[in-house]
Amino acid sequence: SSLFAGLTRQPPDALLAVIGMHRADPRPHKIDVGVGMYRDESGATPVMRAVKAAEERLLKHQDSKGYLGAEGDQRYTDLLARLALGTKLAESDRLTGVQTPGGTGALRLAAELTARSGRAPTVWIGTPTWPNHVPIFLAAGLAVETHAYFDADRSGVDMDGCLAALSRARAGDIVVLHGCCHNPTGARLTAEQWTALADLIAARGLVPLIDLAYQGLGQGLDADAAGMRLLLNAVPEAMVAYSCDKNFALYRERVGALWIQAATPSAVMPVRDALLMLARWIWSMPPDHGAAIVRTILEDDNLTQSWLTELSDMRARIAAIRASLGEAHPVLAHIAQQEGLFALLPIDKTAVASLRDRHAIYMPDSGRINVAGLNSVSVKHFAEAVMPYL
Ligand code: PLP
Repeated sequence: SSLFAGLTRQPPDALLAVIGMHRADPRPHKIDVGVGMYRDESGATPVMRAVKAAEERLLKHQDSKGYLGAEGDQRYTDLLARLALGTKLAESDRLTGVQTPGGTGALRLAAELTARSGRAPTVWIGTPTWPNHVPIFLAAGLAVETHAYFDADRSGVDMDGCLAALSRARAGDIVVLHGCCHNPTGARLTAEQWTALADLIAARGLVPLIDLAYQGLGQGLDADAAGMRLLLNAVPEAMVAYSCDKNFALYRERVGALWIQAATPSAVMPVRDALLMLARWIWSMPPDHGAAIVRTILEDDNLTQSWLTELSDMRARIAAIRASLGEAHPVLAHIAQQEGLFALLPIDKTAVASLRDRHAIYMPDSGRINVAGLNSVSVKHFAEAVMPYL
């Protein structure tokens, strides 16, 4: 019989279906709050100015496309480490990092590294979460346990549920945390909550894996990394999966990094050897162009300044739309307090379908919205349309 006879059809990606329906809708006032990318006031996801400038420099001056190693562009990873982790943690002799194909590649590499550790840790993930989180760890053969992260009734972080679940974890288990701009809820951990988590994680000997995919799109570059840095300072071992795909708007270029903080300096090289070996087996080496762009920007003060200005404009636009939604209805007030692209509307599947049919508003059944899909005009229409369902 055929090698492939055992394969069955898989359900289509829920968001792709939403994109398809939105595209086919002829109504001119249609609104897409489904797709998870930043969009400007006109609905576009433009190439950032600093990225264009860096690309021009690369085109002019790049003199080889020769292979790099499995680590990718190490200077990119090192410059990015300072931005993400801050100088002190970045320069620690307990840290090592490699370039990866996006945040997804970083998570998968972290999962493979964990799977090769010779232990059999459980990976703890708060829900709801990015739909790819659980499958990435399962695909590496790890056991996953999910627990409450969000309290839908209060539209806030369910800290009690989180701490209760993690107090059942065993030493060496992995705790996956969103560094900032939680996807899909936008719910932010306070400094006190980060401290409570760090205390528990340190006391129980757990290993945090921080997924930082939106640095700079929440409160600011350093503010968005503060919780992660606090955690890294509190524990011996940690992993950080980073994506430049949103904050540099490089989505399809697949730009990420994975950092491992080891317990001791002498533990670093075996970890690094394992990372390079696993990377070689999976993708040999990461794609270069996007990382070369980020390196070019971070190496140059003018380009860095241009990038920071544009990133801060993006952040301000997201915050303004959030504020408008928050003012529109008391049930939406939490959206103004939260951060990043995403928020979860407290509505069911029927309401989602009805918004689509009656108002040409497109979102997945979960009620997750990308607030950057709205602009200063459509936000009012959107709020009025959603109101009856709240
Ligand atoms: N982690 C989270 C929480 C995300 O939302 C995403 C992308 O949507 C990623 C990781 C992966 O990002 P990338 O496109 O860099 O693989």
